[in-house]
Amino acid sequence: MDQTPTERPTDAAYDEGAPSLPRELLNTPWIDGHNHAHTLSWSDRERYALSGCAAMVAVASGYHWTPYKPVRASDVRYLWDDAINRRAAIERNHFFEVGLGLGVHTGVRVEDPDPLFEKLDEYAAAEEVVAIGETGVTPTQHVEPWDLDEQRAAVRAQAAVAARHDLPVILHTPNRAGDDGGRSYRPGLGTPGYEKTPGLEGPSVIDEGNPALAATRMDVEETRAAGLPDERVVASHADPNNTSYLMAETDCYLSFTIGHSWLIGVDAADVADAIDEYGPDRIMVDTDCANVLRTDPFAVKRAVLELYRYGIEPDAIRRVVYENPRDVFGIGG
Ligand SMILES: [Zn+2]
Repeated sequence: MDQTPTERPTDAAYDEGAPSLPRELLNTPWIDGHNHAHTLSWSDRERYALSGCAAMVAVASGYHWTPYKPVRASDVRYLWDDAINRRAAIERNHFFEVGLGLGVHTGVRVEDPDPLFEKLDEYAAAEEVVAIGETGVTPTQHVEPWDLDEQRAAVRAQAAVAARHDLPVILHTPNRAGDDGGRSYRPGLGTPGYEKTPGLEGPSVIDEGNPALAATRMDVEETRAAGLPDERVVASHADPNNTSYLMAETDCYLSFTIGHSWLIGVDAADVADAIDEYGPDRIMVDTDCANVLRTDPFAVKRAVLELYRYGIEPDAIRRVVYENPRDVFGIGG
């Protein structure tokens, strides 16, 4: 028993001491490769800065922010221009690097989208654009279904832009809806934590048992058809439903979205499982933080510590939260 100055033995007298703690993790830089931080509050963006975010990809593609339905090409361009307009001011306030992801989300049908893909080619040449997307086949749309072939064509057209500019594509790989067996909410109120008008979701345009995985397979077929190498494809949101397919049959990166685990059920434990099974070389984490969702700007920082607790070594953690997104998006170096 150690000598202690306490009156009688406390835990300190018996404690063998913690295993050596990797204090470098407190200062490991990290990059959020998929968020909508330009829609958040100033204080949320400050949380990114205070917790060690070196860089992020702010994704300006998303139907939550286009007010009119049907959506027109000009509505989507407004989203791109809004992000370009505000990007530098965000950097100046918070110091982290902000790259932009520009694209056309398929969560709502866009009328006559082809001119948009031509314009995207011009936007993709801009230095601040570091990714195309998020996009990717979506089984259901808000308000009005979008024909599956047209969705696939939209993904292919965007992947072709990415290929021409050697940019990565961020895929919105749908998560498989789980049934947690819990009590359901009163009809008409929607899901608390996700501000979205309920009851406007159309029927699924994918008619098979696992539409989320089918959508991911279609995305990869289209990015390949466009000539984009798998290594330039980031599948966000990776989950246990799509991980084995993406790891075994593609060379895509898998980005696990952990900023709203309460909604999609994916958290640091899933990331640790994937690292154990496949190694860290093609794995990332992102937050997908957005103003319409209950999301957590601290999610990546928290995962840095959580992955260590789950047995992942500091080198692998650094690879997943920093080096992989740095190398793929070319930011935060
Ligand atoms: Zn997103």
